[in-house]
Amino acid sequence: MSDHVTFISLGPGDPELITLKGLKALQKADIIFCPATSMPNGKTASRALDILSDLGIAQSKVKLFNVPMSKERSLAISSYQAVTYEITLQYQKGCNIAVMAEGHAGFYSSSYYIEENLMRQHIPTRQIAGIPAFIACGALANMHIVKQEEELNVIPGIISFEELTDKLSENKTLAIMKGSLCEDVIKKAVSDIKDITIHYFENVGVADKEFYTQDKNEILIRKFPYFSLIIIK
Ligand code: SAH
Repeated sequence: MSDHVTFISLGPGDPELITLKGLKALQKADIIFCPATSMPNGKTASRALDILSDLGIAQSKVKLFNVPMSKERSLAISSYQAVTYEITLQYQKGCNIAVMAEGHAGFYSSSYYIEENLMRQHIPTRQIAGIPAFIACGALANMHIVKQEEELNVIPGIISFEELTDKLSENKTLAIMKGSLCEDVIKKAVSDIKDITIHYFENVGVADKEFYTQDKNEILIRKFPYFSLIIIK
């Protein structure tokens, strides 16, 4: 019996950006719990499952669990409770269990709901580190996200235009996640702030979907999806 439930970080989308340690843990797992979302067209989308397929992991080991995208958090919370219950049963049977998390498992990852539920039941957990999206974005743009004494602020989507300009006047580098939550503010910054360079990313590392630009006109016409990220220096 494995003594831990392992939260494996998958990296931002490119299957090659999982760590060797993460891959070995995946190969050893008996059951792999993997987040998925039901789409309006009735299909199920799972970026984590796409990565697992690319890595040659047997689908028979995978159990998808639904993560509702609704703003109604109670739906997501009951879904996390249901998957925690299933994980607990399998853990008690002695299975070696892995739970998938996109990017790094301990960085704005909804897998924390599951990990906290397990901890409350005194089931030991561990995380395997991974590459968070903003690091992969920086590499794609071939930039030094921060250097020397520069400070980095990571912002989880919600920011006012005033907060944004304050932080920029303090010379902070901003990595803004969940771009869809601040599309208007970013577009206002693009239009109103002279000499600003905005690095705009979507779906970094995801085949056929990756997009990166610094071009202001391209940013202004873009509809920011959930998997968008902005770096401003
Ligand atoms: N645990 C993840 C973050 C999850 S929060 C990590 O370590 O990166 C979800 C946000 O991450 C998205 O709204 C988006 O801003 C960012 N993100 C995740 N994957 C991304 C990708 N492939 N390309 C661009 N942004 C991504």
